[in-house]
Amino acid sequence: MKRQLINVSNRLPVTLGEEIKKSSGGLVSALAGLEREDLALRWIGWPGKAVEVDQQSDIERRLRQEHHCMPVFLDQSTAHGHYDGLSNSSIWPLLHYMPTYFRYQPEWWPDFVAANRLFADKVQEVAGENDLVWVHDYQLMLLPRMLRERMPNLRVGFFWHTPFPSYEVFRCHPHREDLIEGVLGADRVGFHTFGYLRHFREAVVRLLGIESEITTIRQPTHQTQLAVCPIGIDARRLEETMKGESFAGHYQKLCETYRDQKIILSVERLDYTKGILRRLNAIDRFLSKAPDVDRLKFIFVSVPSREGVEQYQELRQEVSRRIGQINGRHATLNNSPIHFIHGTVEFEQLCALYARSDVGLVTPLIDGMNLVAKEYVAAQSEPGRVGTLILSEFAGAAEELFNALVVNPYDPGAVADAIGMALAMDAREKADRMAPMRNRVMRMDARAWARAFVDDLAAIEPAVEPARKIEAAIDRVKEAMNGGGRLAMFLDYDGTLREIERQPSAAVPTAEIRELLERLAAMRKVDLTIISGRSEEDLSAFVGRLPVRLIAEHGASIRAAGGRSWERLDRNISTAWKEQILRLLQLYEQSTPGSRIENKRTSLVWHYRNADPEFGAWKAGHLASELAALLANDPVHIRHGRKIVEVTPSGIHKGSAIVHAIGEVRYELILCAGDDQTDESMFRLGLENLLSIKVGDRQTSAQYRLPTPAAFRAFLRRCIGDLSINPAD
Ligand code: UDP
Repeated sequence: MKRQLINVSNRLPVTLGEEIKKSSGGLVSALAGLEREDLALRWIGWPGKAVEVDQQSDIERRLRQEHHCMPVFLDQSTAHGHYDGLSNSSIWPLLHYMPTYFRYQPEWWPDFVAANRLFADKVQEVAGENDLVWVHDYQLMLLPRMLRERMPNLRVGFFWHTPFPSYEVFRCHPHREDLIEGVLGADRVGFHTFGYLRHFREAVVRLLGIESEITTIRQPTHQTQLAVCPIGIDARRLEETMKGESFAGHYQKLCETYRDQKIILSVERLDYTKGILRRLNAIDRFLSKAPDVDRLKFIFVSVPSREGVEQYQELRQEVSRRIGQINGRHATLNNSPIHFIHGTVEFEQLCALYARSDVGLVTPLIDGMNLVAKEYVAAQSEPGRVGTLILSEFAGAAEELFNALVVNPYDPGAVADAIGMALAMDAREKADRMAPMRNRVMRMDARAWARAFVDDLAAIEPAVEPARKIEAAIDRVKEAMNGGGRLAMFLDYDGTLREIERQPSAAVPTAEIRELLERLAAMRKVDLTIISGRSEEDLSAFVGRLPVRLIAEHGASIRAAGGRSWERLDRNISTAWKEQILRLLQLYEQSTPGSRIENKRTSLVWHYRNADPEFGAWKAGHLASELAALLANDPVHIRHGRKIVEVTPSGIHKGSAIVHAIGEVRYELILCAGDDQTDESMFRLGLENLLSIKVGDRQTSAQYRLPTPAAFRAFLRRCIGDLSINPAD
């Protein structure tokens, strides 16, 4: 069977009516271009309106058969909370740096979750393990995570069609963590610009505390690749349209109607992000000084948008009022300078407008990409009749179309001057500016964009291998348990058995962990040890009541199973360095808000988990090098671990503690598990009957890997599960 490319967007590219019509947006043609012998294209989305329950199966059948579309039916109230509410009234304003437009009602959230879940249900119904899923945009931010949880090996891409703002703005959202975590379920996340990527990464680092590289976010279960891939226009459709008769007719008509006039064109959805009111101020200013208003026509094509959202209704009224005012002020007997169309125009007509306009005036306050700017450029195909593009520096397109007259839309004087410059520009300069832009826009079109994204997504290796490998580890443990000998287990606590907490004191064992340890400890053949960097006090408090051996402070002291006193393994070790280092750490603690010192018996630890992540990591790097210089001749080990910098005597490590603990006992199998750099000394012990497991995704010399503490606990349960008939055997 062909592999499917399942394209999931909030809205299906169809219009429901007597007939079901397929829309012809850029995304549709971009993806249609991908359909090839080995890839079958499917669409999942909301069909655009509520459908009566008794009609749903009929509509679904027709959508599937006629258009390869699988509808997600949402009732009116869920659709409202999901789309008008959470998506467009809370997330959209923040993505566009407009917290003043931010509205939030808690009851929208369950609708948002429910809608995303219905999308996940549909994907699960349609997708096979080998398929590719491509999710589009902010309305479906929770979907990638839901899919990862349900189908871990599915390859999921996510594309942001909007900007991604600075963390300081995005953090206003009450569900910011859920939203970011949702997106991180994807294997690949695409952005129009590096600026958006950088902001997204910062939100990940600050909100979730994940340390990340510039374009890779490592998570226990998978990696998310971040990529810059600016979307293009449907160049082929535009080119074909401009060869057609309908275009020629419209073009001719425009030339006649505006025979002696210069046209300055703006096309956009009526949205507050598009900067319409500020543009009108600039036009007002320009007209006040323009020598011959009769020869100018500003055409606005303003496509109605989100009419269910209050702020859009207000904007519509304000735009009409301002246009009336400006036309009133600058109209002559022969001309009123602004022609405002509140509606859509056919694509042939739009192309004719692009081609005939002397200036394309595109001044959004913020815009993910702005395809109108690219379409305007693409339509300047006749060398003798080339227009000029004025483009806001806040549109994603400005990064590619840098030969335009790039303006700050917040500066009415600069926009007015740019209009003057564009109108006065000689033909040579216009052509010189336009040619490289047009070349790029025609080459890097929507098809090229989709092809690149999908090919990269398809190249990602699914995470199946480690899952298969761990089965072998389970077999080894079971075999040892069924054999005649004994089995030793050395299990690290934080990050291995128990999930890490921001406050270490909060990481008490859960009932599930306690029960699991009790079961293990009750097995006669198993010698269980909890081996940790924690202090004796912490370990005693957390697991001291269980009949298990404890090793504290990375091997500095040991307590026998059921024992009360600790044996010190660090008796001959010097800690003379501690005093001086403590003073140094105090300076770092002072100058790094959120950081703190932990003074253990044999070691010193500087924790920065609660500090600003970037600042903390930077200071930690400095501290580690300063320590290395200061302690070059001391018998200590300096470790820059997970949000900590630690100095420990070099004779003390978990590996040597294990050797001490094992003593003369012969074990069938020695199982060691840990998540941190300190655990590597166990993994490197070089014993032939060692079975080592790394929990998490970092570099390791362990033989096996599990993604999370929960997965490790499940592993332990599976190891003992088969023996549960007689656990004490
Ligand atoms: N458009 C259209 N009909 C119209 C006016 C515009 O189909 O009457 C199209 C236009 O060709 C462009 C898209 O709407 O492809 C607008 O995309 P853009 O990225 O500029 O803005 P967005 O609406 O995505 O914010």
